[in-house]
Amino acid sequence: MRPFEYARPQTEAEAVELLSDHDGKTAVLAGGTDIMNLLRRDAIQPRRLVDIKHISSMQGIRQADGGVLVGSLVTLEDAAESPLLAEHRSVLQVAHAHKAIQIQQAGTLAGDLCQLPHCWYFRNGYGLLGMENGLSMAEAGDNRYHAIFGNRGPAKFVSGSRFAPAMIAWGAKVRVVGPEGEEFIPLEYFFATPKTDRQNVTVLRPGQLVTHVWLPSRTADIVSGAYEVLELNGLDRPQAAAAVTLKMQSGIVRDARIVMGHVAPTPWVAQEAANALIGQSVNEDTASRVGDIAVAGATPLSMNGFKVQMARAAVKRSLLRAVGQLDEALV
Ligand SMILES: Cc1cc2nc3c(=O)[nH]c(=O)nc-3n(C[C@H](O)[C@H](O)[C@H](O)COP(=O)(O)OP(=O)(O)OC[C@H]3O[C@@H](n4cnc5c(N)ncnc54)[C@H](O)[C@@H]3O)c2cc1C
Repeated sequence: MRPFEYARPQTEAEAVELLSDHDGKTAVLAGGTDIMNLLRRDAIQPRRLVDIKHISSMQGIRQADGGVLVGSLVTLEDAAESPLLAEHRSVLQVAHAHKAIQIQQAGTLAGDLCQLPHCWYFRNGYGLLGMENGLSMAEAGDNRYHAIFGNRGPAKFVSGSRFAPAMIAWGAKVRVVGPEGEEFIPLEYFFATPKTDRQNVTVLRPGQLVTHVWLPSRTADIVSGAYEVLELNGLDRPQAAAAVTLKMQSGIVRDARIVMGHVAPTPWVAQEAANALIGQSVNEDTASRVGDIAVAGATPLSMNGFKVQMARAAVKRSLLRAVGQLDEALV
């Protein structure tokens, strides 16, 4: 591991100041469950690590502005147990799907949203885009866990966030602070697909950090569901995932959001599929049809065609789960 400075601010303003130094060669340390691994592998080389765990304004979950404001430092376990999030079923389903107790207790919500890709080429030191001699290693090599959407450019990895699909489907926003002050960014527009190794996987600029995530409160006509296709029942990442939020009236869908995860360099909004649900009831047939529409534009790489079926199943099952029709005994 290379040497780096370690800083422990007590306030958001101090954190911004510390992150703004060193030409942006700084990084946020939250729970540390992922970033420590990256440092050990020399996949990232910050000159200063800014440990935000002691900033009290970024702790806790409370009601605010017609919704729930979740501090960035809230752990996955705290989120799963909070009565204020009990109505956001899809978010809870993702929290409970994290079977690794270490990640539940130490990993934070913002750490999940901001985590760097788990592409094995990046993690083994070939840069964010996993290039060698100007060629994409994922394109030519083992790409079984890589993207099946949004993969025509140099980024072939998948976004690692497990909470983003559910939160985007809920219309979440992130509060970001930085040298130019605070801003609220719809989570849907928070993620970015880099075109060079110097770009990032989010729109965060040097000196900025996420302080909170805001979710609108649930009203009685809204249902939600999430489904992740996982290989293991422990430390694992989904091969494909989906989350839906539906506005219902007398059993008919009046508004729908469908977001897929782990299929593209960013969370992938399936707008056409969501539109096809409007005016329909959700049952085995409509859920299957919407799953087909969601994956119709997939562009799998040489070894990951199987992920198309997984994404389709994730969409179908998240829809059935949202309306209480998924036979949980069979999944
Ligand atoms: C062995 C191992 C197993 C894992 N298993 C799983 C797993 O099974 N499933 C899974 O989904 N994930 C897994 N992870 C990934 C990761 O631990 C979790 O996603 C966790 O939520 C990350 O949170 P953290 O607070 O520990 O983030 P950190 O490791 O502290 O940070 C992660 C990234 O987010 C950035 N960051 C953190 N907070 C902020 C902020 N407030 N503003 C801006 N940037 C920020 C950091 O700079 C860093 O790039 C695993 C990691 C490891 C090392």
